[in-house]
Amino acid sequence: MTHKPGIVVTGASGRMGQMLIRTITESDRAHLVGAVERKGHAWVGQDVGKAMGGADLDVVVTDDPLEAFARAQAVIDFTAPAATLEFSTLAAQARLVHVIGTTGLSEEQIEQLQPAARHAVIVRAGNMSLGVNLLTRLTEKVAAALDTDFDIEIVESHHHHKVDAPSGTALMLGEAAARGRGVSLSDVADRGRDGMTGARKKGDIGFAAIRGGDIVGEHDVLFAAPGERIVLRHIATDRAVFARGALTAALWGQGKAPGAYNMVDVLGL
Ligand code: NAP
Repeated sequence: MTHKPGIVVTGASGRMGQMLIRTITESDRAHLVGAVERKGHAWVGQDVGKAMGGADLDVVVTDDPLEAFARAQAVIDFTAPAATLEFSTLAAQARLVHVIGTTGLSEEQIEQLQPAARHAVIVRAGNMSLGVNLLTRLTEKVAAALDTDFDIEIVESHHHHKVDAPSGTALMLGEAAARGRGVSLSDVADRGRDGMTGARKKGDIGFAAIRGGDIVGEHDVLFAAPGERIVLRHIATDRAVFARGALTAALWGQGKAPGAYNMVDVLGL
Protein backbone atom coordinates (compact mmCIF):
# COMPACT_ATOMS: atom_id res chain seq x y z
CA MET A 1 0.00 0.00 0.00
CA THR A 2 1.55 3.30 -1.03
CA HIS A 3 -1.01 5.59 0.56
CA LYS A 4 -1.20 5.36 4.35
CA PRO A 5 -4.77 5.95 5.55
CA GLY A 6 -5.23 8.73 8.10
CA ILE A 7 -6.99 7.56 11.25
CA VAL A 8 -8.91 9.36 13.99
CA VAL A 9 -9.26 7.86 17.46
CA THR A 10 -12.31 8.80 19.54
CA GLY A 11 -12.24 8.52 23.33
CA ALA A 12 -8.52 9.24 23.06
CA SER A 13 -7.90 9.32 26.81
CA GLY A 14 -9.59 5.96 27.47
CA ARG A 15 -7.81 2.66 28.13
CA MET A 16 -8.42 1.52 24.54
CA GLY A 17 -8.05 5.06 23.12
CA GLN A 18 -4.47 5.32 24.36
CA MET A 19 -3.64 1.78 23.23
CA LEU A 20 -4.99 2.61 19.76
CA ILE A 21 -2.94 5.78 19.54
CA ARG A 22 0.23 3.83 20.41
CA THR A 23 -0.61 1.08 17.92
CA ILE A 24 -1.31 3.52 15.06
CA THR A 25 1.75 5.67 15.67
CA GLU A 26 3.99 2.58 15.82
CA SER A 27 2.48 1.18 12.59
CA ASP A 28 3.94 1.84 9.17
CA ARG A 29 0.57 1.06 7.53
CA ALA A 30 -1.40 4.09 8.80
CA HIS A 31 -0.96 7.45 10.47
CA LEU A 32 -2.79 9.24 13.26
CA VAL A 33 -4.56 12.39 12.04
CA GLY A 34 -6.95 13.12 14.90
CA ALA A 35 -7.85 12.45 18.51
CA VAL A 36 -11.33 13.23 19.84
CA GLU A 37 -12.53 13.68 23.40
CA ARG A 38 -15.79 14.98 24.79
CA LYS A 39 -16.36 18.70 25.43
CA GLY A 40 -14.78 19.92 28.66
CA HIS A 41 -12.27 17.03 28.87
CA ALA A 42 -8.90 18.12 30.30
CA TRP A 43 -7.04 16.78 27.23
CA VAL A 44 -8.88 18.98 24.69
CA GLY A 45 -6.42 21.47 23.16
CA GLN A 46 -3.34 19.48 24.25
CA ASP A 47 -1.04 17.42 22.03
CA VAL A 48 -2.25 13.84 22.47
CA GLY A 49 1.27 12.39 22.81
CA LYS A 50 2.10 14.84 25.57
CA ALA A 51 -1.25 14.24 27.30
CA MET A 52 -0.37 10.52 27.33
CA GLY A 53 2.88 11.37 29.11
CA GLY A 54 5.18 10.92 26.09
CA ALA A 55 6.60 12.89 23.18
CA ASP A 56 4.53 15.24 20.99
CA LEU A 57 2.67 13.46 18.17
CA ASP A 58 1.62 16.68 16.35
CA VAL A 59 -2.04 15.82 16.86
CA VAL A 60 -4.07 18.13 19.09
CA VAL A 61 -7.03 16.58 20.96
CA THR A 62 -10.28 18.13 19.71
CA ASP A 63 -13.90 18.09 20.89
CA ASP A 64 -15.10 18.66 17.30
CA PRO A 65 -15.36 15.20 15.68
CA LEU A 66 -16.54 16.49 12.30
CA GLU A 67 -13.46 18.67 11.92
CA ALA A 68 -11.21 15.68 12.75
CA PHE A 69 -13.17 13.27 10.50
CA ALA A 70 -12.81 15.65 7.53
CA ARG A 71 -9.04 14.91 7.50
CA ALA A 72 -9.29 11.10 7.80
CA GLN A 73 -10.03 7.87 5.96
CA ALA A 74 -11.10 5.93 9.07
CA VAL A 75 -12.24 6.44 12.64
CA ILE A 76 -11.59 3.88 15.36
CA ASP A 77 -14.13 4.20 18.11
CA PHE A 78 -14.02 2.47 21.51
CA THR A 79 -16.22 4.80 23.57
CA ALA A 80 -19.82 4.50 24.79
CA PRO A 81 -23.05 3.56 22.93
CA ALA A 82 -24.58 7.06 22.72
CA ALA A 83 -21.28 8.56 21.53
CA THR A 84 -20.81 5.78 18.96
CA LEU A 85 -24.25 6.49 17.45
CA GLU A 86 -23.35 10.17 17.02
CA PHE A 87 -19.98 9.27 15.50
CA SER A 88 -21.64 6.84 13.06
CA THR A 89 -23.75 9.63 11.55
CA LEU A 90 -20.74 11.92 11.20
CA ALA A 91 -18.50 9.15 9.84
CA ALA A 92 -21.12 8.28 7.20
CA GLN A 93 -21.39 11.95 6.17
CA ALA A 94 -17.62 12.05 5.71
CA ARG A 95 -17.65 8.54 4.05
CA LEU A 96 -15.12 7.21 6.54
CA VAL A 97 -14.62 3.60 7.55
CA HIS A 98 -16.06 3.44 11.09
CA VAL A 99 -14.52 0.72 13.23
CA ILE A 100 -16.70 0.23 16.31
CA GLY A 101 -15.27 -1.56 19.33
CA THR A 102 -17.78 -0.03 21.76
CA THR A 103 -19.85 -2.67 23.53
CA GLY A 104 -23.14 -2.53 25.43
CA LEU A 105 -25.24 -1.29 22.46
CA SER A 106 -28.89 -2.33 22.73
CA GLU A 107 -30.71 -4.04 19.83
CA GLU A 108 -32.37 -0.67 19.08
CA GLN A 109 -29.02 1.11 19.04
CA ILE A 110 -27.57 -1.52 16.68
CA GLU A 111 -30.59 -0.96 14.43
CA GLN A 112 -29.89 2.79 14.48
CA LEU A 113 -26.48 2.15 12.88
CA GLN A 114 -28.18 0.84 9.72
CA PRO A 115 -28.74 4.19 7.94
CA ALA A 116 -25.01 4.99 8.33
CA ALA A 117 -24.08 1.55 6.95
CA ARG A 118 -25.92 2.41 3.74
CA HIS A 119 -23.40 5.20 3.06
CA ALA A 120 -20.16 3.98 4.62
CA VAL A 121 -18.29 0.92 5.79
CA ILE A 122 -18.94 -0.03 9.42
CA VAL A 123 -16.94 -2.80 11.05
CA ARG A 124 -18.34 -3.63 14.48
CA ALA A 125 -17.24 -6.42 16.79
CA GLY A 126 -17.54 -6.94 20.53
CA ASN A 127 -14.01 -8.30 20.33
CA MET A 128 -11.41 -7.42 17.71
CA SER A 129 -8.86 -10.14 18.51
CA LEU A 130 -8.00 -12.92 16.06
CA GLY A 131 -8.21 -15.50 18.87
CA VAL A 132 -11.74 -14.64 19.96
CA ASN A 133 -13.06 -14.50 16.41
CA LEU A 134 -11.60 -17.95 15.84
CA LEU A 135 -13.24 -19.05 19.10
CA THR A 136 -16.56 -17.78 17.74
CA ARG A 137 -16.26 -20.09 14.74
CA LEU A 138 -15.27 -23.02 16.95
CA THR A 139 -18.20 -22.35 19.30
CA GLU A 140 -20.65 -22.40 16.39
CA LYS A 141 -19.21 -25.68 15.11
CA VAL A 142 -19.19 -27.43 18.49
CA ALA A 143 -22.74 -26.24 19.25
CA ALA A 144 -23.90 -27.58 15.87
CA ALA A 145 -22.27 -30.95 16.54
CA LEU A 146 -23.79 -31.48 20.01
CA ASP A 147 -27.41 -31.88 21.10
CA THR A 148 -29.14 -30.18 24.03
CA ASP A 149 -27.89 -32.83 26.45
CA PHE A 150 -24.93 -30.46 26.50
CA ASP A 151 -25.75 -27.33 28.52
CA ILE A 152 -23.98 -24.26 27.11
CA GLU A 153 -22.66 -21.74 29.63
CA ILE A 154 -20.53 -18.69 28.86
CA VAL A 155 -18.37 -17.38 31.69
CA GLU A 156 -16.48 -14.12 31.29
CA SER A 157 -14.09 -12.17 33.54
CA HIS A 158 -13.06 -8.52 33.22
CA HIS A 159 -11.42 -5.67 35.17
CA HIS A 160 -13.42 -3.78 37.80
CA HIS A 161 -13.96 -0.69 35.59
CA LYS A 162 -16.12 -2.49 33.05
CA VAL A 163 -19.67 -1.05 32.97
CA ASP A 164 -21.65 -3.57 30.86
CA ALA A 165 -22.45 -7.27 31.37
CA PRO A 166 -22.42 -9.79 29.82
CA SER A 167 -19.41 -8.57 27.84
CA GLY A 168 -19.79 -7.88 24.13
CA THR A 169 -17.57 -10.91 23.54
CA ALA A 170 -19.74 -13.17 25.69
CA LEU A 171 -22.76 -12.08 23.64
CA MET A 172 -20.86 -12.74 20.38
CA LEU A 173 -20.07 -16.24 21.64
CA GLY A 174 -23.69 -16.72 22.73
CA GLU A 175 -24.90 -15.67 19.26
CA ALA A 176 -22.46 -18.15 17.70
CA ALA A 177 -23.67 -20.99 19.94
CA ALA A 178 -27.30 -20.14 19.16
CA ARG A 179 -26.54 -20.05 15.43
CA GLY A 180 -24.90 -23.48 15.70
CA ARG A 181 -28.06 -24.81 17.37
CA GLY A 182 -30.34 -23.09 14.88
CA VAL A 183 -32.11 -21.00 17.55
CA SER A 184 -32.35 -17.31 18.35
CA LEU A 185 -30.23 -16.19 21.33
CA SER A 186 -32.99 -13.89 22.58
CA ASP A 187 -35.26 -16.96 23.01
CA VAL A 188 -32.74 -19.02 25.02
CA ALA A 189 -30.42 -16.57 26.82
CA ASP A 190 -30.39 -16.98 30.62
CA ARG A 191 -28.70 -13.88 32.08
CA GLY A 192 -28.12 -12.88 35.69
CA ARG A 193 -29.28 -15.78 37.86
CA ASP A 194 -29.99 -14.88 41.48
CA GLY A 195 -32.17 -16.42 44.19
CA MET A 196 -34.71 -19.23 43.61
CA THR A 197 -34.28 -19.45 39.85
CA GLY A 198 -35.58 -23.01 39.49
CA ALA A 199 -33.72 -25.76 37.64
CA ARG A 200 -31.80 -24.95 34.47
CA LYS A 201 -34.00 -25.08 31.37
CA LYS A 202 -32.80 -27.51 28.69
CA GLY A 203 -31.54 -25.65 25.63
CA ASP A 204 -30.83 -22.39 27.46
CA ILE A 205 -27.53 -20.60 26.94
CA GLY A 206 -26.38 -19.24 30.29
CA PHE A 207 -24.15 -16.25 31.04
CA ALA A 208 -22.06 -15.46 34.11
CA ALA A 209 -19.87 -12.38 34.67
CA ILE A 210 -16.91 -11.97 37.01
CA ARG A 211 -15.49 -8.46 37.66
CA GLY A 212 -12.20 -7.78 39.41
CA GLY A 213 -8.79 -6.14 39.41
CA ASP A 214 -7.08 -5.60 36.08
CA ILE A 215 -8.30 -8.69 34.16
CA VAL A 216 -8.07 -7.72 30.47
CA GLY A 217 -10.65 -10.29 29.31
CA GLU A 218 -11.22 -14.03 29.71
CA HIS A 219 -13.97 -16.13 28.14
CA ASP A 220 -14.93 -19.77 28.62
CA VAL A 221 -17.59 -21.55 26.60
CA LEU A 222 -18.68 -24.65 28.50
CA PHE A 223 -20.54 -27.54 26.95
CA ALA A 224 -21.52 -29.61 29.99
CA ALA A 225 -23.29 -32.97 29.76
CA PRO A 226 -23.73 -35.74 32.33
CA GLY A 227 -20.30 -37.38 32.63
CA GLU A 228 -18.25 -35.03 30.41
CA ARG A 229 -17.53 -31.41 29.64
CA ILE A 230 -15.84 -29.48 26.85
CA VAL A 231 -14.36 -26.05 27.62
CA LEU A 232 -13.27 -23.62 24.90
CA ARG A 233 -11.19 -20.82 26.45
CA HIS A 234 -9.66 -17.53 25.34
CA ILE A 235 -7.50 -15.37 27.56
CA ALA A 236 -6.43 -11.87 26.52
CA THR A 237 -3.44 -10.59 28.49
CA ASP A 238 -2.77 -7.38 26.54
CA ARG A 239 -5.22 -4.81 25.13
CA ALA A 240 -2.86 -4.42 22.17
CA VAL A 241 -4.56 -7.44 20.52
CA PHE A 242 -7.82 -5.46 20.27
CA ALA A 243 -6.04 -2.35 18.98
CA ARG A 244 -4.15 -4.31 16.32
CA GLY A 245 -7.40 -5.98 15.21
CA ALA A 246 -9.15 -2.60 15.01
CA LEU A 247 -6.34 -1.16 12.89
CA THR A 248 -6.48 -4.19 10.59
CA ALA A 249 -10.24 -3.57 10.22
CA ALA A 250 -9.71 0.13 9.40
CA LEU A 251 -7.25 -0.80 6.63
CA TRP A 252 -9.38 -3.69 5.34
CA GLY A 253 -12.40 -1.37 5.03
CA GLN A 254 -10.66 1.03 2.61
CA GLY A 255 -12.40 0.84 -0.77
CA LYS A 256 -14.99 -1.74 0.37
CA ALA A 257 -18.66 -1.27 -0.54
CA PRO A 258 -20.77 0.44 2.16
CA GLY A 259 -22.29 -1.99 4.64
CA ALA A 260 -22.15 -3.47 8.13
CA TYR A 261 -19.27 -5.92 8.57
CA ASN A 262 -17.68 -7.77 11.47
CA MET A 263 -14.24 -9.17 12.29
CA VAL A 264 -15.08 -12.58 10.83
CA ASP A 265 -15.38 -10.74 7.46
CA VAL A 266 -12.13 -8.86 8.06
CA LEU A 267 -10.17 -11.94 9.07
CA GLY A 268 -11.76 -14.10 6.37
CA LEU A 269 -12.55 -16.83 8.92
P1 NAP B 1 -12.69 3.81 29.02
O1 NAP B 1 -11.28 3.74 29.52
O2 NAP B 1 -13.78 4.25 29.92
O3 NAP B 1 -12.67 4.75 27.72
C1 NAP B 1 -13.82 5.26 27.08
C2 NAP B 1 -13.45 6.59 26.50
O4 NAP B 1 -14.50 7.10 25.68
C3 NAP B 1 -13.20 7.62 27.60
O5 NAP B 1 -12.06 8.38 27.27
C4 NAP B 1 -14.47 8.45 27.53
O6 NAP B 1 -14.30 9.76 28.00
C5 NAP B 1 -14.71 8.44 26.04
N1 NAP B 1 -16.04 8.91 25.68
C6 NAP B 1 -17.23 8.55 26.19
N2 NAP B 1 -18.20 9.27 25.63
C7 NAP B 1 -17.58 10.12 24.74
C8 NAP B 1 -18.05 11.12 23.85
N3 NAP B 1 -19.35 11.43 23.79
N4 NAP B 1 -17.15 11.77 23.05
C9 NAP B 1 -15.85 11.47 23.12
N5 NAP B 1 -15.36 10.56 23.98
C10 NAP B 1 -16.23 9.89 24.77
O7 NAP B 1 -13.14 2.40 28.44
P2 NAP B 1 -12.29 1.31 27.63
O8 NAP B 1 -11.86 0.22 28.56
O9 NAP B 1 -11.28 1.98 26.76
O10 NAP B 1 -13.44 0.69 26.73
C11 NAP B 1 -14.19 1.48 25.81
C12 NAP B 1 -15.21 0.58 25.11
O11 NAP B 1 -14.53 -0.38 24.31
C13 NAP B 1 -16.12 -0.22 26.06
O12 NAP B 1 -17.41 -0.31 25.47
C14 NAP B 1 -15.45 -1.58 26.10
O13 NAP B 1 -16.31 -2.63 26.44
C15 NAP B 1 -15.00 -1.69 24.66
N6 NAP B 1 -13.92 -2.65 24.38
C16 NAP B 1 -14.05 -3.37 23.23
C17 NAP B 1 -13.06 -4.24 22.81
C18 NAP B 1 -13.19 -4.93 21.49
O14 NAP B 1 -12.26 -5.67 21.08
N7 NAP B 1 -14.29 -4.70 20.76
C19 NAP B 1 -11.91 -4.42 23.61
C20 NAP B 1 -11.79 -3.66 24.79
C21 NAP B 1 -12.80 -2.76 25.16
P3 NAP B 1 -14.67 10.13 29.55
O15 NAP B 1 -13.60 9.52 30.37
O16 NAP B 1 -14.70 11.61 29.56
O17 NAP B 1 -16.03 9.51 29.82
